[in-house]
Amino acid sequence: MSEEYILSMKKWCEEILESYDASAEKLERRVASEELESWQNDLIQFKDQLLDTISFDKKELYERANSLYLQLEDFFNEEDETEDLEMSRVHQQSLSVPIGAHTLPPLPYNYNALEPYIEREIMRLHHDKHHKSYVDGLNKAEKEMQKARKTNDFSLIKHWEREAAFNGAGHYLHTIFWNIMSPKGGGKPTGMLLQEINQTFGSFENFKKHFSEAAKSVEAVGWTILVWAPRSRRLEILQAEKHQNLSQWDVIPLLVLDVWEHAYYLQYKNERGKYVDNWWNVVNWKEVESRLQQAKQLLWEPF
Ligand code: MN
Repeated sequence: MSEEYILSMKKWCEEILESYDASAEKLERRVASEELESWQNDLIQFKDQLLDTISFDKKELYERANSLYLQLEDFFNEEDETEDLEMSRVHQQSLSVPIGAHTLPPLPYNYNALEPYIEREIMRLHHDKHHKSYVDGLNKAEKEMQKARKTNDFSLIKHWEREAAFNGAGHYLHTIFWNIMSPKGGGKPTGMLLQEINQTFGSFENFKKHFSEAAKSVEAVGWTILVWAPRSRRLEILQAEKHQNLSQWDVIPLLVLDVWEHAYYLQYKNERGKYVDNWWNVVNWKEVESRLQQAKQLLWEPF
């Protein structure tokens, strides 16, 4: 276990150095060369030391790696040098959604784009009615919770927390769901995503079988979700019975399949299995891989 940790740290160092090399030219124009050189030396020194380490403090290694990573991130953030501080603050703020101001994201394609696998009418109702009601419900819950904080009256907090979980999960999962599908979808994943799938499930076929079986056996309503667990640095397939329950708050959804009846009933009636099987034809693997790529930027202490 400890040897594995050292090896994964070493691999991480190599990946960081690679990404540094890829943008070295750009960085050299922005950051003082002594600063870059000292960072690079620190990283190489850290990497070399990993090989000699017999007994080590995992937390200390992690903290050192993290500080090297944060420094590299700072180098990239230098790009904002033309903006003054106020601009940068406004920019940061504009990236966040104000309380109670969520909006319905547009479908990234036409209502009929996923036919014949998912009919136009399902997409229209699912997006315009169902997803919209999650957005409205989440906004309402956030505002009510804000009101509770202001008035210090938390007598209804249990209700609004439930509403926030139910509608928030609905809003966030549907936002992923529209994007992990595409009229140009289907086929097999490639690259790093396929690598991780093979690593955990043995093969894409094994993964697909497991994911489909999990989707078909979700009790009543819910989702099947492929997650990257930053803690174990592995993929996992989870069921979410009623999406407000059984959430693993420490994970990031990558591939989600809506198996609520409203997602397929108009077209498939009670044949959820057929819908699940056909759904694979519209999966947007590029988007799933891009989500994994971003999720993997997270570096948490492994346990
Ligand atoms: Mn839905």
